[in-house]
Amino acid sequence: MTIGTRSTARSTPIGASPAARTSTLPIARRRRSFSPLEIAADRCKGCGLCVDVCPKHVLTLDTEVVNPLGYHAVHLVDATACTSCALCARICPDAIFTVYARSRGDAA
Ligand code: SF4
Ligand code: SF4
Repeated sequence: MTIGTRSTARSTPIGASPAARTSTLPIARRRRSFSPLEIAADRCKGCGLCVDVCPKHVLTLDTEVVNPLGYHAVHLVDATACTSCALCARICPDAIFTVYARSRGDAA
C-alpha cells in the first residue's frame, strides 16, 4: 500500500500518436462544419416546388437516386450559398425540411 500519493492520470495515453495528442486542443478553437438544411429525402414526392421557390437556386431533384416512394428526391447542391431563408420549408407540402440558422463559429 502506498500512502500520500495522488493520482497521476494523463489525458493522453503514454505512447499515443501525435494525432491523438492534437485531439486535446480546446473545442473553441475548432470550426464546426455547418449544414443549413436537414432533408427527409425518403419522404420527398419530387414535386419541385422548393426547387422553383429557392432564390439562391441551390436545390435540385437528384435524378441519380430514387427514394422509397419512387421519386427523385430533392438535394441541396451548395450549402454555402443557402441563406436559411426557409422559403423551401414553407412551400413544401410534406414538411421535408428542417432549416438551421448559421451561428458564429460555424464553418462555411
Ligand atoms: S433555405 Fe432558402 S436559400 Fe436555403 S435552400 Fe431553402 S429556399 Fe434555398
Ligand atoms: S416541395 Fe417538398 S415534396 Fe416537393 S420536391 Fe421539394 S421537398 Fe420534395
